Parts: sequence; C-alpha cells; structure tokens
Amino acid sequence: MSEQDDEPCCKITRVAQAYHIRDIDAKLLQQREQGASLRELAIFFNKRVLSEALDRATQEVIGDAETIYAVLTDDDTDRARQAELRSKLARYDVDIDDVQQDFVSHQTVRNHLNGCREIDTGREPDLDLESGRKTIEWAQARSEGVIEQTIERLRNAGEVADTRTEVTQSVRVACSACGRSYRVEEFLQQGGCDCHPGAD
Ligand SMILES: [Zn+2]
Ligand SMILES: [Zn+2]
Repeated sequence: MSEQDDEPCCKITRVAQAYHIRDIDAKLLQQREQGASLRELAIFFNKRVLSEALDRATQEVIGDAETIYAVLTDDDTDRARQAELRSKLARYDVDIDDVQQDFVSHQTVRNHLNGCREIDTGREPDLDLESGRKTIEWAQARSEGVIEQTIERLRNAGEVADTRTEVTQSVRVACSACGRSYRVEEFLQQGGCDCHPGAD
C-alpha cells in the first residue's frame, strides 16, 4: 500500500507528502528498531524535512541539514549566529520559518504511531550497557579535560607550582540500600549492587 496516495492521517504524513519523503512509516520504524526514542524519531523526521527543503547548491554553500538543524535548534547557539544563518538561507530562497512550521514534536510522532498506525510506543527502548558505558566514559573524559585546562590556567597565573601534572578522575557509585560503594566500571561490570534489595 502506498501511503503517498492516501489522505494524510495527521501532520506526519501530510508533511512527508509535501516534501516527497517516501515510506515514512517504514523509515520511522526502522529507526525505532535501532533503539531511537520518540524524541530522536522527531529529530530524524525534522532533519529529513530540512534536508528536502535544501537544494544541493544551498547545502554546498551553507551546510548540510545536520549542521543547519544543530544551529537552529541548539539553545546554546547565540542568537546572532542563528539570525545570520536565517538570512543566508533566505538568500537561497529557503523560507526557514515555513520549514520549521513543518517540524514535528515527539508527541506528534507518538500520536501518529499510536493513534494512526496502532503501534505500541508505550515503552521507550532500553539503554544497553555498552552505550551507557560509552556515555559515562565520554562524560569522564570531558570533565578531566576541563579540570586539566583549569589547572593549566592556574599554573600560567602562578597560582600553582609549575610542574607537569596529569588529571585522572575516579567516579564512585554508592548503593543507597546497603551503603557499599563501587568504582563505576566495577558497578557496571557486575550489573549493579549485589545486595538484592526487595522491589520496594
Ligand atoms: Zn498519522
Ligand atoms: Zn547494595
């Protein structure tokens, strides 16, 4: 069955049709099977929309959908940079306000999958140990970097002695049930504390 020819069931299919994005349901479900949350599905959808709205020349000069989406939606990007991007896009005949009107929220994705397609989205996909470990390693490396830079600045300011240093940070996780404390790597490796408290 081709969803392209059907009456749109909601904003998702209406926008997908308008931007000639084919098989949007299959694409969303594929992302979901790979562990994407509803929020990530909305971002995936919005980037597709943006990508369709940008022709090749625009992408070559201004940036691809990924880059532009990041600048537009990142709260940390300063307003001046966003305004500059908007006026650049306007010069390439991209009405980014219109495009953003077509972006969807994670609620819209949920309503579409649940309501229109009767797909259960009640449960967010579980985070697995491996990607959890990666996130923790990333956070640790990042905070070690910040500490290192700070010490470097203090050294330059003459506030600490001028010797070589190396920062390592060890994160510990304490179990509130039994009070035992673990290195975070150890905690993950053994699947949490082994005191097995009751469900409550
Ligand atoms: Zn729908
Ligand atoms: Zn415990």
